[in-house]
Amino acid sequence: MRIGLYPGTFDPVTLGHVDIIQRGMALVDRLVIGVAINRDKGPLFSLEERVAMVEAECAPIIAKTGGEIIVHPFENLLIDCARDVGASIILRGLRAVADFEYEFQMVGMNRALDASIETVFMMADARRQAIASKLVKEIARLGGDVSKFVTPPVVEALKRKYG
Ligand code: ADP
Repeated sequence: MRIGLYPGTFDPVTLGHVDIIQRGMALVDRLVIGVAINRDKGPLFSLEERVAMVEAECAPIIAKTGGEIIVHPFENLLIDCARDVGASIILRGLRAVADFEYEFQMVGMNRALDASIETVFMMADARRQAIASKLVKEIARLGGDVSKFVTPPVVEALKRKYG
């Protein structure tokens, strides 16, 4: 069974993430979505809230594809998390050039830690490539309309935070 790990902060989950999850499902038998606790980033949503939001987004994808998705909070090293869940692939989304430098370093370091785990990059649909959780939060905080970037339950969750 091919298992993939898609790690991120998902603060909150966006249509960009959903796009990558859908594409990733075609590559693996089981997709584990690793929700990083990431205290350093000072997330807006608690870990429980982020996990619940990701689970809600995945339900229709599971129903549609019949595939297996597991949402898995983690605090340890990414490569250890991948080993814990039995993943042979780490899935990452690639947006602009800005993501490249960081991802390039991550692949190099992770490969040095465990050469058996391969990182695979995917690009979202053109309309979703520019979406970033950080900017979604900024727009929501300033009262802007984020409905093009996140699903209705996430729009509501953002309103509750900033309302
Ligand atoms: P962000 O960088 O928006 O805070 P995360 O840390 O949760 O998001 O990102 C998790 C993964 O999803 C990363 O690999 C990131 O590059 C990817 N990702 C996030 N948004 C998009 C998008 N709009 N298109 C493609 N990949 C994305």
